[in-house]
Amino acid sequence: MSLTIESTVTWFRKFDEKIQANKNTLTDLDQSIGDGDHGINMSRGLTEVIKTLEGKSFDTLGELSKAVAMTMIGKVGGAAGPLYGSAFLKMSIKMGTNIKLSDVELLDVLKEGEQAIIHRGKSSVGEKTMVDVWSPLLAEFAETSAINWEEFKTLAHKNMLATKELHAKKGRAAYLGERSVGHIDPGAMSSYLLFESLAETMIEGGH
Ligand code: ADP
Ligand code: MG
Repeated sequence: MSLTIESTVTWFRKFDEKIQANKNTLTDLDQSIGDGDHGINMSRGLTEVIKTLEGKSFDTLGELSKAVAMTMIGKVGGAAGPLYGSAFLKMSIKMGTNIKLSDVELLDVLKEGEQAIIHRGKSSVGEKTMVDVWSPLLAEFAETSAINWEEFKTLAHKNMLATKELHAKKGRAAYLGERSVGHIDPGAMSSYLLFESLAETMIEGGH
């Protein structure tokens, strides 16, 4: 299986659909431990990402990912916009002029995205952020040459649920301290939806 320009567009279409369908849930989660704007931020941003992707054709994966990054930086807002934007920008550099990525290459690209989030957010595992979905997921598949995308999706979901028990150390939720325990992190949920969309794209693509 490989990720192509066409399947990357499918990935973002799915991500957009899931963000729009879960907009209220993301907002509710952010209302519990933040300021309640994550659903609105992501919904607005993904609508713009889809407009960007529909308005232009892309010759390389690097170009496509850079366009996604710039739209996210400009349109998502909050903490999540610059974080996702930095991830896709760093990923675009790694993708470069490729038009196709194998599972191993895709994992390397995602790893760049993870590092960009960690660098930008000065965050690490266990601080109740989107990093708690990205890092353990990519670590689990680090030695894999062909990803089992069902397992990938299941683990991303498990990582999202596990943020519930964590005490927030970064982002707005950190102001709540111990009271942040008992709620899923909103950014962890949007990152799960990103990875669920990718897994479904790869499963359906089947090539
Ligand atoms: P804001 O907190 O500015 O309102 P959002 O609500 O859009 O921004 O996004 C909040 C999410 O961003 C959090 O749930 C968390 O996953 C993520 N986040 C916030 N700060 C950091 C950070 N320093 N490092 C990694 N992720 C972070
Ligand atoms: Mg917020």
